[in-house]
Amino acid sequence: MNHIKKLEIFGFKSFCGRKEISLLEGLNCIMGPNGSGKSNVAEAICFVLGKASRKDLRAERLGDLVYTGGKRLPPSKFAKVTIILDNKNRRFPVDEDEVRISRKVDKEGRSLYRVNGKRQTREYVKSILSPANIDPDGYNIVMQGEIGKFIDLSTEERRKIIEDLSGISIYE
Ligand code: ATP
Ligand code: MG
Repeated sequence: MNHIKKLEIFGFKSFCGRKEISLLEGLNCIMGPNGSGKSNVAEAICFVLGKASRKDLRAERLGDLVYTGGKRLPPSKFAKVTIILDNKNRRFPVDEDEVRISRKVDKEGRSLYRVNGKRQTREYVKSILSPANIDPDGYNIVMQGEIGKFIDLSTEERRKIIEDLSGISIYE
């Protein structure tokens, strides 16, 4: 298992300025009152891994992900999320003990990805995540309300998801 070591979040949604969240191996839990930003943390992870669906990120436009400012704090010029993944087992095809993926988006919605400091494309990010079975548009991350959605699916649609998850759909 390649665990997430740390998340660095700057100006993303309700996160003003730079915030760090360190995560341990195993189960981690984030608690807080309604509207305190728990789902925004999950969305920050989806965002940096390259999720394309604005609906899943709860944003009409990508630029809406940038912190809009609060009572005392001014709006941010851009949003940036960095995820630091453990890679001691070299499961990600990058010859470093840590893989540092970052994605920055400006108010116009332009995205820029970096992997270990070097500018890369979204396709490259997807390609290094794939050997660890991480797909930003897949089901590694189950968002709020999605369980209800899975229950309401038809049996055919549910079968397709199970085939995707088990990794057999690519052989069809
Ligand atoms: P719940 O327990 O109800 O699921 P939550 O802890 O998951 O709540 P989130 O949905 O993550 O909360 O956070 C919602 C907050 O994020 C709202 O207060 C909203 O105003 C704020 N927010 C979202 N986008 C932005 C933005 N671009 N700039 C500033 N604040 C934002
Ligand atoms: Mg929530």
